[in-house]
Amino acid sequence: MLRKEIEAILEDDFINFLKQNNLLEKFQNKEIECSLCNTPITLDNIFAIYFDQSFKFCCNDFSCAEKFNQRENR
Ligand SMILES: [Zn+2]
Repeated sequence: MLRKEIEAILEDDFINFLKQNNLLEKFQNKEIECSLCNTPITLDNIFAIYFDQSFKFCCNDFSCAEKFNQRENR
């Protein structure tokens, strides 16, 4: 599962992922936001990446992480 791989994501992997998906510029412009709270995603707060029609990102805010986990366990 993609999520399992992403949980232990390394910064380099994340940057490569962004490059491969043409998202690096968006990321650098802080245009990539947590899909739950709309906080700009940074290397410090990235919690998870998932795919739902397009790539979605979840920050490591406690309430977002909890909602994300509930969503996954549905
Ligand atoms: Zn969030």
